[in-house]
Amino acid sequence: MPSLLEIEQVEQRIASLGSAVRSEVLAYSESRDLRFPIYKLSFGTTDPQAPVLGFVGGVHGLERIGAQVTVALLNSFSELVTWDKGLQRTLEHMRVFFIPTVNPIGIYRKTRSNPRGVDLMRNAPVEADHPPRLLGGHRYTNKIAWYRGELGAPLELEAEAMVRGVESEIAESRLAITVDSHSGFGLQDRLWFPYAKTLKPFPEIGLVYSFNQLLERTYPHHFYRVEPQAGTYTTHGDLWDYIYERHHGVERNKPFLPLCLEMGSWMWLKKNPWQIFKSDGAFNPLIGHRHKRTLRRHNTLMEFLIRAVSSPEEWAQLTPQRSAEYENKAQELWYAKY
Ligand SMILES: [Zn+2]
Repeated sequence: MPSLLEIEQVEQRIASLGSAVRSEVLAYSESRDLRFPIYKLSFGTTDPQAPVLGFVGGVHGLERIGAQVTVALLNSFSELVTWDKGLQRTLEHMRVFFIPTVNPIGIYRKTRSNPRGVDLMRNAPVEADHPPRLLGGHRYTNKIAWYRGELGAPLELEAEAMVRGVESEIAESRLAITVDSHSGFGLQDRLWFPYAKTLKPFPEIGLVYSFNQLLERTYPHHFYRVEPQAGTYTTHGDLWDYIYERHHGVERNKPFLPLCLEMGSWMWLKKNPWQIFKSDGAFNPLIGHRHKRTLRRHNTLMEFLIRAVSSPEEWAQLTPQRSAEYENKAQELWYAKY
């Protein structure tokens, strides 16, 4: 049976962590002779209402660096858990989870889509305003990228596993942030916030503004560009739009920020243009030192997020006045140009 390095690393972690981690196989992704587990690893308190931070990767198999970065964060986090008393205390009051390889067969075969040719980030029953043709999601054929799957069909197995895994962690949480790692766009690393489906502001933009202020104050030299995902283009079927809407419909007072880390892959292409001729060259840093640098590049973000989620008093508990003020500022900062 073929194996996948990222899954081997996850399994080694599960074995070495023992009772420090709760691990679960959300589903097995299968195709012909391939069968890979989709793991979820969860650390910290099981209190359903505790704040939660989640890392997800490998949704688009071709963007393998997303899975690799998520595993790299898991590796560092797993080491810290064994010796960092501060983190151990923090985890008594919060939870951190990882789903590093949502689409393992896509990673193995270097395809964007799942084994049935469906783009998982176009698969949810969510309709967009004015998406670009094809790229924004379509239902013509699974031979063309960005295929949404058949109208009315249930979620694809991998998408359903991810949704179930995330919802089981955040359902009653009083504050949740997730980071889904992708690559393939732009010269800069972006932190995208919802919606993907529309340029209308999503209900939590005041909170995003507050989050962004906290990031700017704490790490003024950070390199992320924080912006609404739909500012680039709108897409049908985004799984995070779907999870967000389901969560917000039930838990209006429990903020949830699903972020997408879109790594600026054009940086790698600019430095090494020849890699465009490799099948995965447009989406991944192929040269050793650049790859290593990418794997360690987001450690500060993880540490910041752990602190932000575990200390919501400072930025996430806004008075109605402050909330209204931040919403106006967010409108100006992110939406005025559209
Ligand atoms: Zn992607």
